[in-house]
Amino acid sequence: MRNVVIVGSGCAGNTAALYTARANLQPLVVGGHEPGGQLSLTTLVENFPGFPEGIDGPVLVENIKKQAEKFGAEYQHGSVIEASLSQRPFRLNVDGDWVEAAAVIIATGASARWLGLPSEQRLIGHGVSSCATCDGFFYRGKKIMVVGGGDSAMEEAIFLTRFGSEVSILHRREEFRASRIMLDRARANPKIKWITSAAVDEVRDGGTGVVTGVRLRSLKDGSVWEQEVDGFFLAIGHIPNTAVFKGQIELDGDGYIVSKGGAKTSIDGVFHAGDVQDRSYRQAITAAGAGCMAAIEVERFLEAQGH
Ligand code: NAP
Repeated sequence: MRNVVIVGSGCAGNTAALYTARANLQPLVVGGHEPGGQLSLTTLVENFPGFPEGIDGPVLVENIKKQAEKFGAEYQHGSVIEASLSQRPFRLNVDGDWVEAAAVIIATGASARWLGLPSEQRLIGHGVSSCATCDGFFYRGKKIMVVGGGDSAMEEAIFLTRFGSEVSILHRREEFRASRIMLDRARANPKIKWITSAAVDEVRDGGTGVVTGVRLRSLKDGSVWEQEVDGFFLAIGHIPNTAVFKGQIELDGDGYIVSKGGAKTSIDGVFHAGDVQDRSYRQAITAAGAGCMAAIEVERFLEAQGH
């Protein structure tokens, strides 16, 4: 039986691993289906304290992992596909193998949201993407569309102007959720075109199997038109990765873990860390802080259990 199993290997999970490893708890980290979490999908991170020149997201998260491994954290590839948290020891099914744990930290993060159109789903990886950093390179000199009106949409659109001949931001309202600074940066970029109060009805491939365009609909007057597009990027938010814990642990209406203070969940001995509980900050530094909190709570919990 493991002292503590950490589910997720993003900034939160890796920081929890570092702290529990240094507390001599030999944590097991289950990497999950997006190892490295959201940081592994970013480029330069300029707001993580301690790096005046910035640091690449994937390097940052890998460094935290290395730091945790140095103190004895063990990493396992794979995902938790089933969980039994109703009694102790807790049991987690990692790709078919059950692991027992005295304490669990859930740091599974939140994954990209899709529009859910059948045409979009069919063309994922063939012109449809949720990760500009991963796929932008493929659209050199091509026409790109980014859907969304938040900071992610601004950031991705600005990033994609490095590659695309033109980048359109499509947003369903006139007002933007994005912060002023990000919006201003995007507005100042001459390569970015704006389409507001509009929705995507269909992603088209013209029978080619790769994206060739989109059919759009005005949300003001219902008019419909088509636009040529080669790369179609979604930046419309995230969904917390908690499906496997549903029915066992208290989740809110959107599936985020409900915090019971600090890093506590509705189950004694199961703790949360990072975006899986945080719908408001979602920063690398807050995720790292949350991982630290969860680790300290695990130490206290196990000590109180006489572990
Ligand atoms: P977000 O702020 O929740 O924005 C999501 C956007 O997608 C909204 O504009 C929303 O429209 C739109 N949207 C949602 N569902 C949609 C649908 N089904 N169809 C069409 N549009 C849809 O998400 P985010 O941009 O990923 O940002 C998440 C958090 O991370 C925020 O707190 C943000 O500040 C932070 N962040 C910060 C930075 C940075 O500072 N560098 C970069 C990225 C993210 P409505 O506005 O109409 O709801």
